[in-house]
Amino acid sequence: MTGERREAARLHLDWTRCEARGACLELLEGTLVGDEDGFPLAVGRPPGQRTDVPIAREEVAAAREAVGACPRLALQLLRPRRGRAGDA
Ligand code: SF4
Repeated sequence: MTGERREAARLHLDWTRCEARGACLELLEGTLVGDEDGFPLAVGRPPGQRTDVPIAREEVAAAREAVGACPRLALQLLRPRRGRAGDA
């Protein structure tokens, strides 16, 4: 996701819970990518922002599904950093 796309929500990744099983990577392909150990990272974000993933409006449903599918409860869907909460 690039900075130009409107952020409707933000997906927080808690690596302390994650076991790199990859369900979220399948549901949010193109938004998340696995690192060399399989831990999810935000595509195209600087290192300090790779665990808070901007989610576009059209990705909110998939992000909700990823939150529900995560076996480790490692994902949280939060309000966007700026503007209205949108569908979050
Ligand atoms: S679904 Fe959960 S446990 Fe699996 S890689 Fe994603 S955050 Fe980690």
